[in-house]
Amino acid sequence: MSIKRIRVYPDPMLRKKCRVVKRIDNKIITLSKDLVDTLVAAGGVGLAANQIGELSRIITLHMPEEVKPIILINPEITRKEGERNVVEGCLSLPGYEGLVKRSVVVSARWIDLNRSRYKVTKEELFAQALEHEIDHLNGILYTDHLLEHEKLKHAGLEQDHPHSHDVDMKITVQKDNDKSKEILESRLNFSKLYSDSSISQMQYELHNEGYFEK
Ligand SMILES: [Zn+2]
Repeated sequence: MSIKRIRVYPDPMLRKKCRVVKRIDNKIITLSKDLVDTLVAAGGVGLAANQIGELSRIITLHMPEEVKPIILINPEITRKEGERNVVEGCLSLPGYEGLVKRSVVVSARWIDLNRSRYKVTKEELFAQALEHEIDHLNGILYTDHLLEHEKLKHAGLEQDHPHSHDVDMKITVQKDNDKSKEILESRLNFSKLYSDSSISQMQYELHNEGYFEK
């Protein structure tokens, strides 16, 4: 299996809704193992299929206390309870973290590669990761849940440390009918983020500056 490139915001894949897995064939098995390998290499807690460019409802979670990551196919949240504020980051927004509202208790179900069914009720990091990764499958990023835009900050800085919201990044664009890749240098203005529709606002701005085809 192999380690894949993790798509970084504003890659359009991160805004796509993933499709339900109907048959567990070799393609799904390979994709699941690639997800695990990529997550382990990145050292993260969770990864969703569209983060490596595949639109199937598969996520992998690696809790710090567990030896191996688990694979969750067609994961669904069946119940949520309570609210809490937690600091969150994402492998698709490297170097940033923000304060978001998450549930205290999350019940979910899924199947694994052997079609075994799982039903769990979780709290803490597991609950947070379930919400975060299942959001990915629906094209939602944690930045959509930011409590205030000021809370998106460079990871590792103190709360009152002066920081810049803006970041230079390279965007790789591959057009459908063209094998060649174009790398665009861009400055993402995180300071223009808004708490309710931050990402769509930013995409709107990028579109209008001509970084993406409409
Ligand atoms: Zn993420």
